[in-house]
Amino acid sequence: MNYATIKNNDIANGPGVRVSLFVSGCTHKCPGCFNEVAWDFDYGQPFTQETIDIILDMLKPPHIKGLTLLGGEPFEPQNQPAVVELLRQIKANYPEKTIWAYSGYLFDRDILAGKLGPKEITDEYVSYLDVIVDGRFVQSRKNLSLRFRGSDNQRLIDVKASLKAGEVVLWQDWQTEGKGLRK
Ligand code: SF4
Repeated sequence: MNYATIKNNDIANGPGVRVSLFVSGCTHKCPGCFNEVAWDFDYGQPFTQETIDIILDMLKPPHIKGLTLLGGEPFEPQNQPAVVELLRQIKANYPEKTIWAYSGYLFDRDILAGKLGPKEITDEYVSYLDVIVDGRFVQSRKNLSLRFRGSDNQRLIDVKASLKAGEVVLWQDWQTEGKGLRK
């Protein structure tokens, strides 16, 4: 896998102050995409153990709430093994940090259904996630007032609650972040 960018102290892509990893490669090609250069799987730099170590170091300060995965498409089958290795190491070092992922694929129809490569890899990937923001960006449904998403077809899904319930449960920030702490 290649990656385009790592952002430290990111406050735009999930609750609190986070580290964001923008992976390379996306086959969705949504019109109006915010990051067209990252459609190319060869864009950016190779993602290595050194990259993982940099991310682990960035996650260390207590005020960093967790990691957000963006792209590109973090769920493309060829990107999943490298992301899973990253998440494995994050959870081993910082079990309390939250993991968010953005995907143009649908959580129930594509990801949980095992349509994106070996299901055991996808299942391990999903087991590390707290929230997934799913669905392609749709320009005609773009809404600048939406929090943490670009168009209103995209869903903020509470992954752990959804797995427990056996159906999609939307993320409610007061449940996980503390009522009244964030607006
Ligand atoms: S899924 Fe995301 S990165 Fe891929 S084309 Fe759509 S908006 Fe761009």
